[in-house]
Amino acid sequence: MAAIVEGEGRAAASRGVAVLLPLPLERPYDYRVPDGDLPAPGALVRVPLGKRDVVGVVWGPATGEVEPARLRDVIEVLPLPPLTAELRALVDWTARYTLSPAGAVLRMALSVPSAFDAPKVPLGYRRAALPPPAGMKLTPARERVLAIASSRAVPLGELATAAQVTPSVVSALAKAGVLERAPVASGAVFAAPDWRKGGVRLTPDQRAAADSLIANANGFSVTLLDGVTGSGKTEVYFEAIAAALAAGKEAVVLLPEIALTAQWLARFQARFGVAPAEWHSDLGTALRRETWRAVAGGQARVVVGARSALFLPFPDLGLIVVDEEHDSSFKQEDGVIYNARDIAVVRGRLAQIPVVLASATPSLETVINVERGRYKRIVLPERFAGAKQPEVRIADMRIEKLPRQNFLGSALRTALGENLAAGEQSMLFLNRRGYAPLTLCRSCGHRIECRNCSTWLVEHRLVGRLLCHHCGHSEGLPIACPSCGAAESFAACGPGVERLEEEVAALLPAARLAVVTSDTVGSPAAAAEFVRQVTEREIDVLIGTQIVAKGHHFPLLTLVGIVDADLGLAGGDLRAAERTFQVLHQVAGRAGREQRPGRVIVQSYMPEHPVIAALAANDRDRFMAEEAKNREERGMPPYGRLAALIVSGPDHATVDTMASALARTAPRDDGIEVWGPAEAPLRLLRGRHRRRLLLTAARDIDVPETMRSWLARVPPMSGVRVQVDIDPYSFL
Ligand SMILES: [Zn+2]
Ligand SMILES: [Zn+2]
Repeated sequence: MAAIVEGEGRAAASRGVAVLLPLPLERPYDYRVPDGDLPAPGALVRVPLGKRDVVGVVWGPATGEVEPARLRDVIEVLPLPPLTAELRALVDWTARYTLSPAGAVLRMALSVPSAFDAPKVPLGYRRAALPPPAGMKLTPARERVLAIASSRAVPLGELATAAQVTPSVVSALAKAGVLERAPVASGAVFAAPDWRKGGVRLTPDQRAAADSLIANANGFSVTLLDGVTGSGKTEVYFEAIAAALAAGKEAVVLLPEIALTAQWLARFQARFGVAPAEWHSDLGTALRRETWRAVAGGQARVVVGARSALFLPFPDLGLIVVDEEHDSSFKQEDGVIYNARDIAVVRGRLAQIPVVLASATPSLETVINVERGRYKRIVLPERFAGAKQPEVRIADMRIEKLPRQNFLGSALRTALGENLAAGEQSMLFLNRRGYAPLTLCRSCGHRIECRNCSTWLVEHRLVGRLLCHHCGHSEGLPIACPSCGAAESFAACGPGVERLEEEVAALLPAARLAVVTSDTVGSPAAAAEFVRQVTEREIDVLIGTQIVAKGHHFPLLTLVGIVDADLGLAGGDLRAAERTFQVLHQVAGRAGREQRPGRVIVQSYMPEHPVIAALAANDRDRFMAEEAKNREERGMPPYGRLAALIVSGPDHATVDTMASALARTAPRDDGIEVWGPAEAPLRLLRGRHRRRLLLTAARDIDVPETMRSWLARVPPMSGVRVQVDIDPYSFL
């Protein structure tokens, strides 16, 4: 009898599968498959969870942890292609490495609300076959509506805006039967890129580089495509994309600032005849859903996107390109904390496909991987179309006698004037949004701090408010000082881009200026409009944060002024010097990309600093060698490993208790040191008190495993969050 029951139990268990849900859960849960074939691993299934339904992914056979009789049933297997074994392995790998719940990582691969429902088609208005009724007069407004809706259905709002009429004009036409309701086509087309089309003629160097990339097309490899700004890296890796397409595979390109890719998209279109699919946070829900489905179904052959594009469900991915691989925005700092550049290499290895890392200023990590023989390197030596490298001059600001609250030295002022007179464009770089970094009371010295964070509020005159750059809190500038009551006593201290604009306007009243920050060109449309204005010479001087440094090609831009080159060098950030060099080099690379020679003026109070000196000498390799020596002496990455713990909570006493408990149980193995707990530089963020611990380890230590067993020794405390950041980039 017992044997029969046991046999039945096994039969029931064999009708089960383990399903991973896109929720912050560590492991898959078992579900029963009531009838039909068992869904294969990777299949998307709808299952009950509590009182609701969730779409998850079959992760393997049932674990048997729950008695078969208590299992709930899989509701349905969705008619979508299964996630590949390679993508499932990537989810598991990322979860293990970052110490994140596997379900939270899966969520990045399925981050598409309602992607799994049958698409709902919205209705719009289209011109009906019927002529207008006899009594109806066709006013110009009505004619405009009918013209726009003559060939396709248009949503009401869009139709009214395009025809410059009120929605009631449209409704009246519908009521009269002249317009009819019809489904609106989404407009999303995922046309296949034509890899045979061919683009610009490659120089012999570029051709050779493209050929070596193509020669790596089979199997896993990582290649650093190393070339100065304007050397044609994009055109070269386009050839690798063409090779992947020719082999019937897909390609994904990760870019750091997806908002600013209009020029990249135009080049892609020129090479392949169609636009690629895009993947970033600005996609609307419907387009996001369709794009995800088109990727899963193999129709979207090339996707360009932000870091999250890396987790898309490509059926047969053949190439991963990470452009501007050194860019720190590839590091995601919340939720699952990961570096897309590094995970791209992991996906390449799991999928056994090539990965291309492109940069003019590769990260030290990548350069050392080349030196260790783990990555290949292809160097593109010349600037495209024979343009010359710009001349770089350091302006020593210690010998300048600048008037108070002025920030442009004499060299830069003169050069700006000359450039305007010559009809050429200039760019000023200052990595500070807003008007001034600090606002303080002239009577008592009171500074306005964010109520949620331990930072000063930044005045933004464009919107007439004080903003916190960390939590987004904003408030009006008080009329009276909250501390001493003095009226209109607040003064702006230091420069922001908006203030620099004032200084340039006073210097060159005739110049047309544009401030370029995430505040002004934050959307793809605004970014495209900005690029158009510069290209069509509607702007003489650009004043911007690092957002202006990314990937643009402006032929008439011949002067770049770096207003405060020392800004990124302060502070205890491991990569501060490297990042400063990269940004400065990139900004400098904007100048004189075509036939006109470019000039760069670098304002600095410490011209002998190795970063500034290397920049003046335009000597990247010297800078990298200095930086490598520094890091090696201190056992810092890539010569050692780092992991950070960030302990935070609304109550600082419990946060301290938790941080001390972590310090007491810290690993003491050879080759490991733990620092802290220390107050985080941002000791208060969004109302949470923060403490940090930092673990440094020798290169051969399994840091994720060390962190896992460390955390397992400390029971969780309610109201306290412990975030793990493996390979941290931010030390705030
Ligand atoms: Zn005051
Ligand atoms: Zn804040």
